[in-house]
Amino acid sequence: MVEKTCTECNKPSYSSNYQGEWIFPYCGIDMTKVPVNNEAYIDQVASNKE
Ligand SMILES: [Zn+2]
Repeated sequence: MVEKTCTECNKPSYSSNYQGEWIFPYCGIDMTKVPVNNEAYIDQVASNKE
């Protein structure tokens, strides 16, 4: 799972679909452009697809 931190309440938001639209359900805000906390995970997923 990829983790982002909500810019409104600072709570963690988790998703497996980090490439698409990311709406935090609790606050209803668009977090698509918020940077991912664990970029190492994305590198790992990308390398596994090859
Ligand atoms: Zn929030």
